[in-house]
Order: sequence, then C-alpha cells, then structure tokens
Amino acid sequence: MTLLSKRLQAVYQMVDAGTRVADIGSDHAYLPVELIETGVIPYAIAGEVAEGPMSRSKADVEKFGLSDKIDVRLGNGLAVINKEDNIDTVTIAGMGGILICDILSRATEAQLSNVKTLILQPNIGEPLVRHWLIEHGFEIIDEDILSEDNHDYEIVKAIKNDSVKELTEAQFLMGPVLMSKKSDAFVKKWQRKLNGYKKAVANMHNAKQIDEDKISKMQQYIKYVEEIL
Ligand code: SAM
Repeated sequence: MTLLSKRLQAVYQMVDAGTRVADIGSDHAYLPVELIETGVIPYAIAGEVAEGPMSRSKADVEKFGLSDKIDVRLGNGLAVINKEDNIDTVTIAGMGGILICDILSRATEAQLSNVKTLILQPNIGEPLVRHWLIEHGFEIIDEDILSEDNHDYEIVKAIKNDSVKELTEAQFLMGPVLMSKKSDAFVKKWQRKLNGYKKAVANMHNAKQIDEDKISKMQQYIKYVEEIL
C-alpha cells in the first residue's frame, strides 16, 4: 500500500528510473521512501529545514532499514546536496511558488552542477515557477494536473537545456504541456477560473474607483483562457 497522496503519486510518476534524487522540504520523506522501496531509484537525499520532521523521518528510515539508500539531512534548500552525492534530480513539492523559486535561486552553482532534472509541485504561483525555469535554462518537458481535497495541483518537470525557448504569456499562465494535453482536470480548473475572472471584471466595473490596468490584465487572461478552452 502506498504512503503517497494522489498529489505526491503524480510527482513520483515523473521521476526517471535509476536517477539520484534530492527531495527538498521532504517533511515525512514519503516520496524518497516510496521511490526506493519500489526500486525506481537507487539513492535519495531527504532534505528538511525543520528539526522535528527531519528527526522523525530519520527514525522511520532507520526502522525500515533504508539508511544505506536514503540520507535524511537537516538544511536549508539545496545546501543539503554535496557535489560528490551526484544528485541529478531535485524534487520540491507542497510549497508555494515563491518559496520554491527562492530555494532554487539560493542554490550555488556547485549544488546545481550535476542537476539535470527539476520536478516541482507548487501549491500556488505556478507561472512564477515556469518563469524561473525558463530564465535559468530549464526546458519544461512534462506537466500534470490533478484535483485533490478541492485543490488543483500542478506538477512541472524540466530539464537543463542551454538553448531553452521563451514561452508565451498564455503558456506561462496555463502551462505549455498542460495546454496541449488539455485533460479533464485542466479544463475544469480553467472553466472555474474563467468564471472567476469574469465576475471579478464585472465587480471592478462597478467599483467606485475603476482600475483600468487591473481590468485590462484580467481581460487578457479571459482571452487566453477562452482561446485555449
Ligand atoms: N514535500 C512534502 C509534500 O509535498 O508532502 C512536504 C511538504 S510540507 C508542506 C513543506 C516542507 O518544506 C515542510 O516540512 C518545511 O519544513 C519544509 N521547508 C520549507 N522551507 C524549506 C527550505 N528552505 N529548505 C528545506 N525545507 C524547507
């Protein structure tokens, strides 16, 4: 039986077999444990900034006899990775997009030098994450979207590519791969968002002080979403 929620299961599915993974902000370390126990990967680091979850995960990893394959390390962001760990894949899940970008921006060149793949699952602020990836030479090669506990979650997988292509505004907003897959979960999310944008524009028109910039931004979003749906 899996320990993983539907959200973490979707992150798990994106990890390539045989890679060496650092899961940053691992909390309970469920993702590395599942990846190791199912034989998908040979080695993982579970990085965690908070002492409590880190000690609990360490105890669990020892209890399950996985200490030789999972290193549970206390530290801020990618500071838990050393060059000799040969980590090629970093996963960061269950945080806001701002925090994910902040963690990635604070990584040194040495910490990122072997990293070829980033698998990111922001709870909010997905466009920010896509901007960070493109600006730092990571090409988005896969995306997934799912709904769990009344929240839409998106997962973005990107690989290092020195000649990465710029995205359109609509692609930053909705996700280049998600737009082409156009799954039921994607259509549902954007239909709901579209209704929200339309209501917001109507309310802004009725406001005492009309914010033309905000209205035109919202109308731009409406146009992008209507074109895709
Ligand atoms: N990744 C797990 C998941 O998706 O279920 C846990 C998500 S939990 C909401 C976020 C975790 O990230 C917390 O345990 C928190 O302590 C940790 N965290 C926050 N900022 C961090 C940082 N800069 N470096 C490492 N861990 C961090």
